This record gives sequence, C-alpha cells and structure tokens, in this order.
Amino acid sequence: MLAEVISIGDELASGQRLDTNSQWISQRLGDLGIRVLFHTTVADDLPSNVQALRLAFERVDVVVCTGGLGPTADDLTRQAIADATGTGLVMDDAALDHIRALFARRKRAMPERNNIQAMFPRGSRVIPNPHGSAPGIDMDIPREGRSPCRVFALPGVPAEMREMWQATVEPALALATSHQRRVIRHRQIKCFGVGESDLEQMLPDLIRRGRSPSVGITVHQATITLRISAEAESVEACFAAMEPTAATIRECLGELIFGDEEEELQHAVIRMLAQRKQTLAIAEWGTGGLVSNWLSEVGDAANVFLGSFVVRGETALTESLAVPQHVLEQHSAASREVASAMAAACRERFRADFGLAIGPFPPGDEQPPDSGRVHFALDSSQGIQCKSSPFVGHPDILKARSGKQALDLLRLSLR
Ligand code: AMP
Ligand code: MG
Repeated sequence: MLAEVISIGDELASGQRLDTNSQWISQRLGDLGIRVLFHTTVADDLPSNVQALRLAFERVDVVVCTGGLGPTADDLTRQAIADATGTGLVMDDAALDHIRALFARRKRAMPERNNIQAMFPRGSRVIPNPHGSAPGIDMDIPREGRSPCRVFALPGVPAEMREMWQATVEPALALATSHQRRVIRHRQIKCFGVGESDLEQMLPDLIRRGRSPSVGITVHQATITLRISAEAESVEACFAAMEPTAATIRECLGELIFGDEEEELQHAVIRMLAQRKQTLAIAEWGTGGLVSNWLSEVGDAANVFLGSFVVRGETALTESLAVPQHVLEQHSAASREVASAMAAACRERFRADFGLAIGPFPPGDEQPPDSGRVHFALDSSQGIQCKSSPFVGHPDILKARSGKQALDLLRLSLR
C-alpha cells in the first residue's frame, strides 16, 4: 500500500512554520508497512488544494492530510475534498452537538462560523476529536477499475492530530492492511572518521537502489549514519532480514563504527569510560564549551565526566588552567605542545584518568583561515597522544567536527 501526506497551510508553504506532522505521520505509516511516496505542502488556496488532492487520489492508496479544518475563512480542507470528489457538504448532527457541547463546557457562546466544522463531504465518516472543535474526515474515493483511495483529514494542531491518529486512523489502517500485513523497520549504524564517499567505497555494493534490505547513507556534522530498512511480515522478520547486512557493515567498517540508533560519540565515550570506571576532564578553546555541553547531556555521565575548562585566550590558559608560561613562550597557541599542556593541566586539576584538550582555531579564536590546523591532545597514564586536523569544509560545522574529532581520539584509545 502506498501513501501521500499532504500538509495544508500558508504558514507551512511560506516557511514560517516547520511541517512536523508529515514526519510523525510518515513514521507511523511506515510502522504499519505503508510506504510513503510523496509529501506535499500546499497553501490555503482552494484550487491548489483540489488539484493536490486529485493528484494524490490517483497516485496512492492512502492520503493523510493535516490542517485547514478550523472554522475560519482560510480553512478549506472540507470544501477541497468535497470539490475534488464532486460531492457536496452536508451537516452531521452528532458532530454539531459535540462542537456545541465543547463551547458550553468552556462557557463560551458558539460563533456562527463554527457550524462549518460540522459539515462533511457526502459519504464520508467523522473522525472524533475529543479535545478540539475540528472533527476529522475519513472517506473512500471510488476509482475506475481499482480499489478506492482512502483519505483521512486531520487537524493541524499536532497534539489533536496525534490523539485522533492513535484513536481512529491507526486502527482503521491496521484493519485495512491486515490481509497483507507488512511492517517496515529501520536500524541505524553510526560511524565517524572518514568522508561519506570513502565510507561508501568500503561497503560492497550495499547502497544499490532496489537492494533488500535497503541501505541508505546520510551525514550530519561529520557523523555518518547508515540506515538499514527492511519490510517483512513481522517485526522479528524485519530484524532477522537486516542482521546479515549489519554484520557485513560491521566487518567492513570495523572501528569506524561507534554506536547504534540515536547514539552520538559522547554516548559511546561515556559508556566506555563507565565500563572501565574511569574519569574524564576537558579543556576546550576553539569549540567554546560545545564538547562539555554534549557530555553533560548524557545520562549517567556524572561519575565519569568530572568537569571542564573553557578558555578564550592565553591569559585564561596560564591563570586558570595553570598551563606553564614557558610553553606559551616557546610555541604558538595553535600547536600540539599547547594542546598537550592543556590536556595534562585539566587532567591534573580534576584528578581525572583522562584529560582531553581542543586547541584554538588559528589564528587565536577568530574565524579560521583556509589553511591552518586545530590540535587535539589526550593525556592519560599512558602518556600524551596528539592529533591535528586541517580546516576544510564549511565553517558552520567546524566546531562540531572538531569536537567530534577530539572525542574520537579518546574513543579509539579506549578500545
Ligand atoms: P490548522 O488546523 O490549519 O488551523 O492549524 C492549526 C495549528 O497547527 C496552527 O498553529 C498550525 O501552524 C499548526 N500546524 C498545522 N499544520 C502543521 C504541520 N504540518 N506541522 C506542524 N504544525 C502544524
Ligand atoms: Mg491552517
């Protein structure tokens, strides 16, 4: 079964508000084994809505719309469905009673305009909305020589939409798909340390279109996510089908893989340190506290991540972090020697097992030039390890990538 999600509203089409309903609905449809082929966003304009609906009724089996069910003049979804299907709007008395009762409970007079919310395309079913005045619409659209297309129209307010989905739409779709019960499940494998195309080359033809299970690759701030998707008759069958692919990926990528699902490098590092009952302190310059913030957000980090110094210049380095003056006299701030002294100093000040440092972005902490490197250092009972990385790529992700490179230095030394 194939689906389309239609989001209706000027605020969405103009970019003033982000469409979150499509994401949520598509995930729920996927859980039911229904593949979403299209997301459409359409402004509050009647001809455009009619056009979008007609197109959807032709190309998919299930259409889920949100928005445009309110009482005001810009709420056109009811009319658009009636026009697209060539049916008129008729009053539903039970729905009208519900809306009246809602206003009575709120001790407010019901405006005339709210009557429209009890009007439904002829032949449709009402989807109750326990907490709002806009009931939804559930309708079968007959199609020549084919099974009908089913359309669900829900309010745009995310809380109401979700409640109505769970109470009415999901059971209806589960019933409609019960004869051909398929579910879709995903797994994510998280990697760090190489570029996207290098990583793809390490995998033997897994990212090919049409492969089953399918493997997709996405990058976010230098973290690469491999997403395996399988469709089968049960959740267990999906995971069983994905396991050989996951095993191949693990075999090919080895230590580039740091975690699963929603895990980030900070989760991996905290988990590994907690297992070893070891502690960590941080000294950050160029990343301005970003790594400390990530680590502090990991649950159960309290006994592992002891604290950090965020320094913004050489004075702070000597006066607060107690980096020896002579190191700064002999080396530039952006050097392995200064990063090493920062790592040793923060480890010492917090009496931690590991001290991890991120140097300045040269020159100083101004916008970095095209050339130049950021230096990282890790101090432990094993001595000091250093690494550096050139500034390449977009400046917006420089901090995040540098922070991750530092965490990855620690992760690899914990293996
Ligand atoms: P409506 O049902 O069109 O009156 O929308 C009611 C509220 O829900 C407005 O505040 C919208 O901005 C919000 N809303 C509508 N559609 C969406 C959507 N697709 N994602 C997130 N919020 C939405
Ligand atoms: Mg609207």
